[in-house]
Amino acid sequence: MNTNSYNISSDYHMHSTFSMDGQDTIEALGWRALALGFNEIAITEHAEWHPAWRGSFDVDGYFAEIARCQALFAPQGLTLYSGVEMGNPHEFAREASALTAAYPFDVRIASLHWLDGDNIHDSACFAGHEPLDVYADYFAALGHMAADFSDIDVVAHFDRILWRGSLLGATFAPRAVETLVRDALATIAWRGLALELNLRTLNHVPNWRPALATMLRWYGEEGGRRVVVNSDAHRVGQMGANLELAAALLREAGLAATTLQPATLAGVGG
Ligand SMILES: [Zn+2]
Ligand SMILES: [Zn+2]
Repeated sequence: MNTNSYNISSDYHMHSTFSMDGQDTIEALGWRALALGFNEIAITEHAEWHPAWRGSFDVDGYFAEIARCQALFAPQGLTLYSGVEMGNPHEFAREASALTAAYPFDVRIASLHWLDGDNIHDSACFAGHEPLDVYADYFAALGHMAADFSDIDVVAHFDRILWRGSLLGATFAPRAVETLVRDALATIAWRGLALELNLRTLNHVPNWRPALATMLRWYGEEGGRRVVVNSDAHRVGQMGANLELAAALLREAGLAATTLQPATLAGVGG
């Protein structure tokens, strides 16, 4: 069982070299997960249909490598899940549904990467707008994504807009858009999706951890119980980072990290 002291023994969001921005192989990620004491991980490659970043990955080659690594790591006590991170799947529903219908991904992640055509990591997102309007649009869109596309298990990095916003000095007071944030989180809760607490930017300076703590508490108040703590690692060195910060945030919000039970594996023993 897991050996880290935070009771977080899984990581369902990371990228291998099958993603265009991943640095390490699936096997390398598996060895690192074992060293960190994880019981289960998912390798979730990017699928994007936005014109500015169109591209899937070699899905057949990926599944062949997943199968090889599953056989390698299962005897060592590490379960390896297949997965995909889909950018704005609700806006590319035909393409996203075709992908999830064609392949038995264990973990299907939905990520709001695009807001009104701009990448949420770019300052273009904020150009010419009041920051509060951008935040309001973002959380409204997050709610639409969670409500409108059915073939998903996890809503990833729900706070990611705050990374660019905080770099631009646009302080985020969640209460200013409380209804929109609660609506999005309530949708995630009633649909039974898992909310991702993304580790990648938790130690960012400047940080928005007080706002994150407030939103996690709201998620619990809206009936949300399923939180997965994920690294979103693009190289092995990023796995296992910031677990202490995540554990503290969950404690403060009265939540605990949960594990996924991928539907594709339901009924399969072990
Ligand atoms: Zn993402
Ligand atoms: Zn990712």
